[in-house]
Parts: sequence; C-alpha cells; structure tokens
Amino acid sequence: MSYSIQEVIPRDVDKVLINRANDTGTVYVVGAGLAGLSAAVSCVLKGYRVQVFESTNHAGGRCRSFKDKILGRTINNGNHLILSGNLGVKEFLASLNTADNFKAMHPVLFNFQDIINNESWSLRPSNGRIPWWIFDPSKRIPRTSFIDYLALLKLKFAKDENIAALVNPSRPIFDRLWQPLSQAVLNTDAHEGSAALIWTMLSQTLLKGSDACRPMLTTAGLSAALVDPAISFLTTNNATLKFSMKLKSLDKNNDKIGSINFNEQAIALKEKDKVILALPPNEISNLIPDIPTPTKTNAIVNVHFRLDDRPILPNNAPFIGIIGGVAHWLFKHDDIYSVTVSAANYFAEKSNEEISKIIWKEVAKVIGDDKRELPLFRVIREMRATFAQTPDENNRRPDSRTKWENLFLAGDWTNTGLPATIESAIVSGQKVAEILYK
Ligand SMILES: Cc1cc2nc3c(=O)[nH]c(=O)nc-3n(C[C@H](O)[C@H](O)[C@H](O)COP(=O)(O)OP(=O)(O)OC[C@H]3O[C@@H](n4cnc5c(N)ncnc54)[C@H](O)[C@@H]3O)c2cc1C
Repeated sequence: MSYSIQEVIPRDVDKVLINRANDTGTVYVVGAGLAGLSAAVSCVLKGYRVQVFESTNHAGGRCRSFKDKILGRTINNGNHLILSGNLGVKEFLASLNTADNFKAMHPVLFNFQDIINNESWSLRPSNGRIPWWIFDPSKRIPRTSFIDYLALLKLKFAKDENIAALVNPSRPIFDRLWQPLSQAVLNTDAHEGSAALIWTMLSQTLLKGSDACRPMLTTAGLSAALVDPAISFLTTNNATLKFSMKLKSLDKNNDKIGSINFNEQAIALKEKDKVILALPPNEISNLIPDIPTPTKTNAIVNVHFRLDDRPILPNNAPFIGIIGGVAHWLFKHDDIYSVTVSAANYFAEKSNEEISKIIWKEVAKVIGDDKRELPLFRVIREMRATFAQTPDENNRRPDSRTKWENLFLAGDWTNTGLPATIESAIVSGQKVAEILYK
C-alpha cells in the first residue's frame, strides 16, 4: 500500500489584522500552550496589544517537540493525531499562513493489528456522510456485524452516560472500536469515558466522510508545525512573549482583577486591560479556588524507539492501532517508532526498563521481528496528560467568562463542548478572543 501525503492547509490566506482606532488596552495571556498561543494569535488579529507569559522556558505545553539526547533526534512529547475535520486547527494554521510542516494522508486508512488473535484490518471511511462500509462485511471490522454499529444512534442522543453503557461491551466491536476510540480521543477507558464527547468527535470527523477524518501528520514535529509558526507570527506582529514567568497570584476585588503577580514581576491592570488564563485546571484551582474545574486526570505514556534500519509498518502505514496489547498506537517518524499508551495511570508507575520491555515485545511483533533486541529507547510520562473525560468531570468544565469582568479562561479542559484535544485548546483560544471583541 502506498500513501501520498498532500498539503491541506491553504497557503497565502490573507488574514487582515484589524486596525483598532481606540486604545483597547493590553491583553495579558498567561500560559503558552496551544490554547494560550491561539488566544494570543486571535487577539492580535483583532487588533489587541498582547503579552504572553509562560512559566517554563519553552512554548507548546503538553504538545511540543524537543531534541532528545538519548535518541539523538527531535521527538514529540507524545504522538498527537489531528484530523482534517478539526476546523479550529485549520483556521489557526491558515491565520499563521503555515503549510510546510503539516501534511494530510491520502487515502484515509486506519490500520489495526490484533496481536493476540493475529488478525489485521483497515478501516476506510466512506467518501460521503453515509458510512457505507458498515454495510459491507469485507470492509467492516472483522467479527463485527451491521447491528453492532447501530449503537451510533444511541451515542447521538447521549447525555451523561459512559460509552460502555450505550454499546455492548461483550461484543468484539467493543475492544476493536469503542475502547480504542475512547482511549485515543478521551484518554479515558470506555467504561468511564463520556459518550456525549465521543459523539461530538465522531460527528465532526468520521461521520462526515473521509475528507473530515484525514490524519494530518507533522513532518518535522509538533513544535515546528504548530508552536514555532505561532511564536513567529506573534513576534512579527509586536506581541511579546516572556518565559520563566510563573503566575503566583492575582489580586481581585468583587468584579475585577487588580493585578497579576509573577515570580519576577507584578503587573497592575489598567482600566481596559484583560487577562486570559490559559493554564491547566490544577493551576486554576490553586490560583482561584472558587472556579470549578475537573479534578481527575489521566496519564499518557509514550515510548520512543530508534530503529536505524527503518523497517516498514504493515501496509507501509505511517501509524497503526494495536489491539490486545498494552500499546495502543505505533507511529513511524523516519527511524523513530513511537508508541502511545493512553489512560495509563497504573502503567506510568512502572520503571522505564519495565515499560520499554513490555512495549518493545509488542512493537517487535507488529514489525514482524519477534527476536529483535530492545533498541535505544526513551520513555516519556505525561502524568496529567488530560482531565479524565468522564460525564461527571465533563460537567465541571467552566465557561471562558468568569465572574471577574476582565478575567477569562482558555484551555482544552474549558467548556468548549469538545474532547480535551488540540482542537479544543485552539478553539478555546479563538472563542475567548471573540468574547473580548464583542
Ligand atoms: C502525550 C499526549 C498525547 C496527546 N495526544 C493528543 C492527540 O493525539 N490529539 C489531540 O488532539 N490532543 C492530544 N493531546 C492533548 C493536547 O496535547 C492538549 O489538549 C493540548 O496540548 C492542551 O493545550 P493547552 O494550551 O490547553 O494546555 P497546556 O499545553 O497544558 O498549556 C498550559 C501552559 O501553561 C503553562 N503554565 C502552567 N502553570 C503556569 C503558571 N502558573 N504561570 C505561567 N504559565 C503556566 C504550562 O507550562 C503550559 O505551557 C495529547 C496530550 C498529551 C500529553
């Protein structure tokens, strides 16, 4: 099978920066993850003066790449899958006029391998909105029947149920579709994951047809594709970014924030100034305990292996879903083979040696070379990768507005209605800029 990787992001989108005649005040964005960067970019486009503050010495937060000394390569903190139906991401990239480091996969094929039963299959979404493939036994997931897919109708009307409550967990489709989907999208086991959130994701991507669920793969890593272009846009447009600036407290009165206090500097807010906190939920509850936030989190473990002979994955796919193992997804980026284990709170407690051995056995099986010795590896644990996306925790997501008129929130975990993903982070930033502008 050969895939072609094509450009999807329009180039030369002429985004006009709005020239505001009146003084709009300064927008202070705290947190330079994707939500903060998206908020900052959207505010600059709307003609605001913007300053961004970040506690670490780099931008990107939970979605970044870095040069790894063990592997001698630039690697991502974790595999991130973005689909072409993620319209917020597309708008963000179009605003930044960046296309070079993001490519879309043609044709759309999600390849899976069941390493227990030694079965493999490819899920090929239909071109249009009607998922014709579910009517065709040769295109369906093996051991599933047309009836299994009718659970989609129940997901559509989901409110506060978890996924397992609406699909039949004893059918093979559970471990072959619903569980991998829940772990990948919600970073939460399907027995706990919100059915309503999965429906939102499905309805915006897979159920719109192949053009909305084309994997958009980074060619030079997450930072080059999403973070660096945002920084360059901001600095070119006179926004400032300051690193190693940790927000320690805010002075508030009944209806306004008076100052934001960093480790190095306190900033007194003027009449028209605004603050956008684009921080993770635990930071918000430390800084402002009266704002409700999700409190439970799930870890993601990524293991990166370097294989100098670059063996191909089955079907020559750029990534593959693994069923029946501990590993969930295996991505190939040139000579780096990266495995994701989601909803991994217990697994993350193991030592690097244990983790790498367990995962390597499964990878070796997938590449068809059981006897291969453990290569160079790097384990990365993101202990608070996302909030646990259960119905209860989903109901604790606050809106962007707060009771303080100059204070706003952004972040994948805020109430965007979307699973806590890159799309949610970016949309939260775009949404907050819209609210300020009204
Ligand atoms: C391993 C992994 C795999 C993932 N896979 C996917 C995927 O496949 N697809 C997908 O769409 N999403 C995926 N996600 C989720 C995605 O990465 C997040 O949704 C997104 O990056 C969140 O962005 P954010 O800006 O909301 O939060 P963050 O990235 O957490 O940004 C918050 C920023 O605030 C900074 N900060 C914290 N406290 C302070 C303070 N007091 N003062 C100043 N700054 C502070 C932090 O350093 C950070 O830079 C994955 C996440 C992980 C960890």
